[in-house]
Amino acid sequence: TTTIVWFRDDLRVTDHPALDAACRRGEALALYVLDEASEGVRPLGAAARWWLDGSLRSLRASLEELGVPLLLRRGPAGQVVPDVLERTGAGGITWNRRYGAPERAVDAAVEQWCAGRGVAARSFRAGLLHEPSELRTGAGGPYRVFTPFWKALRSREVRQPLPAPRAGRGALPRAADAGGGEDPGGWDLLPPPERAEGLARAWTVGEAAAWERLDAFLDRVEDYAEGHDRPDRDGTSRLSPHLRWGEISPYAVWDAAVRHRAERGSSPGLEKFLTELGWREFNWHQLHHVPDLHVRHVRPRFDAFPWRDPAEAAADLRAWQQGRTGIPLVDAGMRQLEQTGWMHNRVRMVTASLLTKNLLVDWRAGEQWFWDRLVDADPACGPGNWQWVAGSGADASPWFRIFNPVTQARKFDPDARYVRRWLPELAGDEGVDPFEPGPLGPALGYPEPIVDLRASRERALDAYASTR
Ligand code: FAD
Repeated sequence: TTTIVWFRDDLRVTDHPALDAACRRGEALALYVLDEASEGVRPLGAAARWWLDGSLRSLRASLEELGVPLLLRRGPAGQVVPDVLERTGAGGITWNRRYGAPERAVDAAVEQWCAGRGVAARSFRAGLLHEPSELRTGAGGPYRVFTPFWKALRSREVRQPLPAPRAGRGALPRAADAGGGEDPGGWDLLPPPERAEGLARAWTVGEAAAWERLDAFLDRVEDYAEGHDRPDRDGTSRLSPHLRWGEISPYAVWDAAVRHRAERGSSPGLEKFLTELGWREFNWHQLHHVPDLHVRHVRPRFDAFPWRDPAEAAADLRAWQQGRTGIPLVDAGMRQLEQTGWMHNRVRMVTASLLTKNLLVDWRAGEQWFWDRLVDADPACGPGNWQWVAGSGADASPWFRIFNPVTQARKFDPDARYVRRWLPELAGDEGVDPFEPGPLGPALGYPEPIVDLRASRERALDAYASTR
């Protein structure tokens, strides 16, 4: 009997419980549905589409080695998946669970369809270490504070990752017979060539690359405690897009880190790294409890926040997007984002703080830009972190903590290597302060600051006070 394995944000073959279960039963046919039509499902941003294209190609090659064809279909999954099941006469379907509300609704509808037709549907936990519905406070509610959440998470056992399944057997239906294609080329996922080239220079997409990155990172994880805050160093894992697309599972990352600890001993860097995986989980659990996290404040006090009128703030938003605010650390980060689809976490915090606090632009406009530009953009960690910076989120940084981007740059990019790398205008002239070029900027083709940091800080504090 044939089992359909419905791939979603889990584009890998190792530690893939749904694929494993299907291969144990007999023939497996892999399916990916590009769903931009189901209600509430957020269409992917441009950088995410680029990543998806590469990741599907890589997955197809890995599946081919296992004898499992990959069928690509496009449309509302609630219709497409039943159609594939009917055309192939498959007796079962497996998938790894998703945690966004619109996605869960789609999955529930498919499950119901299967129940009505006698098709066995089985789902598995693979993308998170623990189910959001299972991890609850003593009072039975969701965690709103990270530390007790993290304590609870750490007290539970994490299962071992599964190996990749052994090669499949028997004849399989051809993808074309199941009403679809085998190549993502027809989906028009790629951005204009110059953007695509920048992304391709920055990343190797796919499961094998994810494992290589993990191994290389663990070799220097001891430096992470100090190095993770330094955008001028290659101090973090850069696993985020691989985790976002499920090219590697959190179980595999967790297991590798724990093994590393067993072999080489504990270190502050390794413990810090595990905590960041905990923040990933925390954000996903928040999304489970606040399904429209990208538009709704966790703390309702912010519903009345006096953001600037979008039309009046449009030019500032544009300058921020283009990396032309005249504030070097912010502009360096925004250009890193534009050119590579990724930005260092410290700089994400500083750019988000400048937009929401100094420029008083609604964080949702910034989140939307990141959603389009980040290769790791996801519906939990994106909005969760934006709300963390804005102060409206769970266990968030308070509003009055307004980063000074010049001080931040001096502290975390002390030799100005990061700003000079991304702002070639400032790279050459030794007479200009690369952290604060001020009025000397325009002669070098670099703008003067669009906002006075001190006055805008006061304005931000007043705006917040007005919501009391
Ligand atoms: P590492 O430092 O090596 O951390 C390891 C892993 O832990 C990451 O790959 C990621 O999965 C997780 N992680 C680390 N920091 C966080 C965090 N603060 N919150 C949640 N998970 C974390 N991360 C995303 O994955 N997608 C997003 O859309 C996203 N948007 C963000 C927006 C803003 C405004 C901010 C401040 C942060 C955002 N982050 C987002 C979190 C963080 O910046 C990235 O996960 C991190 O920079 C990825 O780089 P890395 O893989 O080298 O991280």
